Amino acid sequence: MTLYPLGLRLDGRQVLVVGGGAVATRRIPALLDAGARVHLVAPAITPALHGLADAGRVMWSAREFTPSDLDGVWLVHVAIDEPLAAQAISSLAEERQVFCVRADDRHAASAWTPAVTRHGPVTVAVLAGGDPRRAVAVRDQLAGLLASGAASGSAGSAAFASSSAASSSADAFVGEASTGGAPAQGLDRPHGTVALIGGGPGDPELITVKGRRLLQQADVVVADRLAPGLLLDELRPEVELIDVAKLPYGPAAQQDEINRILVDRAQQGLFVVRLKGGDPYVFGRGGEEALACFEAGVPFTVVPGVTSAIAVPAVAGIPVTHRGVAHEFTVVSGHLAPSDPGSLVDWQALAQMRGTIVILMGLRHLPSIVDTLLAFGRPADTPAAIVQEGTTRHELTVRGTLTDLPLLAGELRPPAIVVIGDVVTALGPI
Ligand code: SAH
Repeated sequence: MTLYPLGLRLDGRQVLVVGGGAVATRRIPALLDAGARVHLVAPAITPALHGLADAGRVMWSAREFTPSDLDGVWLVHVAIDEPLAAQAISSLAEERQVFCVRADDRHAASAWTPAVTRHGPVTVAVLAGGDPRRAVAVRDQLAGLLASGAASGSAGSAAFASSSAASSSADAFVGEASTGGAPAQGLDRPHGTVALIGGGPGDPELITVKGRRLLQQADVVVADRLAPGLLLDELRPEVELIDVAKLPYGPAAQQDEINRILVDRAQQGLFVVRLKGGDPYVFGRGGEEALACFEAGVPFTVVPGVTSAIAVPAVAGIPVTHRGVAHEFTVVSGHLAPSDPGSLVDWQALAQMRGTIVILMGLRHLPSIVDTLLAFGRPADTPAAIVQEGTTRHELTVRGTLTDLPLLAGELRPPAIVVIGDVVTALGPI
């Protein structure tokens, strides 16, 4: 049998789902994402579907199907496993010329749901002649190609690919004139824009899916010392890589120069990725870069990242919170000494709280930070640890107590994270 593939525009259109079990739970989110008005008919539904019904996102009728449910419907999903009931609904749908997807017997259905993978505005849907396992296998291979960047932009050859500007996962660029929040050029890279991307703490697999996809589309990548180096290894050879650690300026002028480069390259019509370590807005000066773009009228987007403040302790075996141990954690910059008039950290309050303290950029001033915390009353035997180059193969963790910290720091060098609190020993031998 030859199928006719279609991309349905369900925005505002009524779709009926009969059945409230696992199949409906899996199908309904994609229908909602496509903007469908979903009417769910089932005497009982799963907790996840209850959540959608309670939030008013689907209309739920807590009863069995009746024929009038098909009135005004464009598509029906029969997600029940009683063949007789399913057959009755699907015959009625056929009579009314409404396409019907069936979970119980796909061969009796008038429409099939493909195996799908979504990558920003690109949706790939695979149908394999009625063999769902094969469809999933092909889909997985294509998803791998898309994720690796090997198939990011040029017209797809297998299955069918569509660029959906209305998808909720389309990239929204602040300041962009085009409607729908889609990238300026559909499948192509969003020319003339900047993406501030969090690259994660070091392990190249800890960048987000979105961050990685946009990184693969970059014309220019502006990276610094903290951006996970292995990610740069994957860039296409023609990508211009600007390593800001090599700019010949002092720190303040350097930030101005970075801002200038971002704006300048974007104004040349290029897609500029500013790749930062961890999350762009955690001690990353990402906010200044966003402002610089905004002031220059350059559309930009922020892709949050996995911050080292949480991920580095986690991978070293330290949860920043733990039941019965810590109900709060505070992330502070140790860039300025506690006595520095420019410091905005209330070290006294921190010392008097019981929760976890995570200090970034804290090595240089560690002796005075420890003295200050002790002076304001943190117990000297509070467990503490330092993790250098966390989540990378060079990771090094040392553990002790608050008083030991300056000694533990010994030969350690940045980047390193200091964790203070009972969570340091909470997982015991792990
Ligand atoms: N935006 C980053 C933090 C930038 S400040 C984030 O969200 O992670 C730089 C500090 O982050 C470093 O001095 C160090 O304290 C910490 N850091 C970043 N990556 C690290 C890593 N892999 N291991 C240990 N500390 C790290």
